[in-house]
Amino acid sequence: MIAENLVRLLERIDKKCKQVGRNPEEIRLIAVSKYFGTDAILEANKAGVKDFGENRAQELMLKYDKIGDTVVWHFIGTLQKNKVKYAVKAAEYIHSVDSIELLEEINKRASSLNKVQKILLEVKTSYEESKSGLTNEEEIFGIAEQAKHYSNVNLVGLMTIAPLTDDENLIRKSFRELRLLKDKMNKSGINITELSMGMTSDFEIAIEEGSTMLRIGSAIFGERNYSKDWRQV
Ligand SMILES: *Cc1c(COP(=O)(O)O)cnc(C)c1O
Repeated sequence: MIAENLVRLLERIDKKCKQVGRNPEEIRLIAVSKYFGTDAILEANKAGVKDFGENRAQELMLKYDKIGDTVVWHFIGTLQKNKVKYAVKAAEYIHSVDSIELLEEINKRASSLNKVQKILLEVKTSYEESKSGLTNEEEIFGIAEQAKHYSNVNLVGLMTIAPLTDDENLIRKSFRELRLLKDKMNKSGINITELSMGMTSDFEIAIEEGSTMLRIGSAIFGERNYSKDWRQV
């Protein structure tokens, strides 16, 4: 089931890349495995997926303890300061940095593990009340500048979640805003390459708008069962 879903998904990614003249090799597919067990992760890994995304620190730790570094872990959820140590231990990338305090804590924890933590800044491009992420451009530039002074963090890009809507224009606007912000940052001497954007419902638009990291869950693993206890991994 997972292997078949993956074949279908990769076909769609390839097709969209061809349409817009992009090389699919420059896009990293992150399988978002939240609510799915380690059996599903290993099955996807066997089918060729190397990158996995989790949005809760404890769930990530449980899976990391079982699977370890044989796959590349991405932390993509809201991160509390007291959970930073777990995310830093397991994740090669933390996509959801949204404050200077979090940046500082990540640097501290990464330093004690002798690690350079790759991070992305989460930007709120959707103007929805409930979504997390940075909105103030001055603050975004400020955090990016501060990151340059920390030797145990490496800022590689920006992440966003598009609004939950059927209106393709609004979704595109959100992804485009992130791309333009990245360009602006690069012009001002902050060198970043990654755009983490695009999920199951909107990844084709994200590819058109320059995504380099797709975070896709249900198209690979199927619908999530939110009533299932994630500790039974
Ligand atoms: C769950 C989640 C995804 C994946 O969502 P799907 O719709 O299942 O592809 C992507 N990004 C974040 C931040 C998530 O929490």
